[in-house]
Amino acid sequence: MFDYLIVGAGFAGAVCAERLASRGRKVVICDKRPHVGGNAYDHYDSAGILVHEYGPHIFHTDSWRTYNYLSTFTRWRPYEHRVLAEVDGKQLPFPINIDTVNLLYGLSLDEGSISQFFAGCAEPVAHAKTSEEVVIGKIGRDLYEKFFRNYTRKQWGLDPSELDASVAARVPARMNHDDRYFGDAFQVMPAQGYTTMFERMLDHPNIWVVLGADDRLLRSEVRYDKMIYTGPIDDFFDHRYGPLPYRSIHFGFETHACAKFQPEAVVNCPNDHDYTRVTEFKYLTGQRHPKTTVVYEYPTSKGDPYYPVPRPQNAELFRKYKALADATLDVHFVGRLATYRYYNMDQVVAQALALVAQLEGAESKAA
Ligand code: FAD
Ligand code: UDP
Repeated sequence: MFDYLIVGAGFAGAVCAERLASRGRKVVICDKRPHVGGNAYDHYDSAGILVHEYGPHIFHTDSWRTYNYLSTFTRWRPYEHRVLAEVDGKQLPFPINIDTVNLLYGLSLDEGSISQFFAGCAEPVAHAKTSEEVVIGKIGRDLYEKFFRNYTRKQWGLDPSELDASVAARVPARMNHDDRYFGDAFQVMPAQGYTTMFERMLDHPNIWVVLGADDRLLRSEVRYDKMIYTGPIDDFFDHRYGPLPYRSIHFGFETHACAKFQPEAVVNCPNDHDYTRVTEFKYLTGQRHPKTTVVYEYPTSKGDPYYPVPRPQNAELFRKYKALADATLDVHFVGRLATYRYYNMDQVVAQALALVAQLEGAESKAA
């Protein structure tokens, strides 16, 4: 008899399992995939290079609490992520900063003149609701067309005007020379990879891990008191109100017989290629190897659900599933797909820590 059945062994499920087990709860955690880690799973490919099976995962957070919690299970490698965007035949720093603008237009702007330059390009937008409006309202139409429009159309299969402002707002426009992709206080990678970190989290006498098993199989095979569900919420309710849209990606891996393939970790392609970006893993992991592996990302509407699609009609449909979830008292929904939120890893960790605190608080009040 288990206290909890946890469905999904990604960040949401593993954090809940570890926290509950450490408080004496008996937990069974299952994943339909043959490995732990969810979409953050990494492994060595046939050439011996550490790769991320489901696309590049870079850890960054402003939350000391989240960083500190995960530090129990891994040492870290300091890593600042840098990206170039291929525009007009040049590879330019991205997010857009002073150097991007100068290299693109042959200017010599500095920290004193860049904000005036952006203000001169920007179009008046009172309250940006869409991803098109949020970019055009900050940096204008030309930079939008060159860096955002086509990338977004490929990534989502939608025009930026059809997506919430929050999507493109993830990427800042910088008024300085900072060429790092993220601005967070903690920018690190797990020193021995994500999978090793997950294995340590789940290595506890109160945790039983079952891999390659759909939860529907386990539900009849094991006895448990409560469930924590981290898969797609519409799946749980057998798509009662119709499928929630997700975006998927086909990953094309290539190994090259050279130590270095491209000048930075990621090259973004807001151009006519079918793929959105190319990532070279050795930059992320710091691995030294005479060969190198890269991954091309081809977005698609078919395949595993990776991205919730932030737009008003989807939020509306999610609210209907959320109402069902709220009425299902012994099942708790947490994680990117179960709460239909475009969350990064650290946000999922924080969400899972908050859920366990809430569950344990409720337990101690009931006792
Ligand atoms: P998941 O990792 O999706 O785990 C859910 C698990 O549940 C899956 O393993 C699935 O197999 C399992 N499951 C589902 N249904 C069932 C079922 N019925 N029975 C059994 N098992 C089931 N975040 C960052 O912070 N930095 C990044 O650089 C970054 N890059 C990303 C790149 C890509 C291409 C993608 C897709 C995501 C990226 N993310 C990144 C986001 C990150 O992957 C997520 O925030 C995080 O992995 C979500 O964890 P989760 O546990 O909610 O979901
Ligand atoms: N984006 C873009 N051009 C780029 C990079 C990002 O238009 O070169 C937009 C695109 O809509 C993307 C969003 O900004 O989906 C968020 O980018 P981010 O890199 O955060 O996406 P993720 O890493 O989650 O795929």
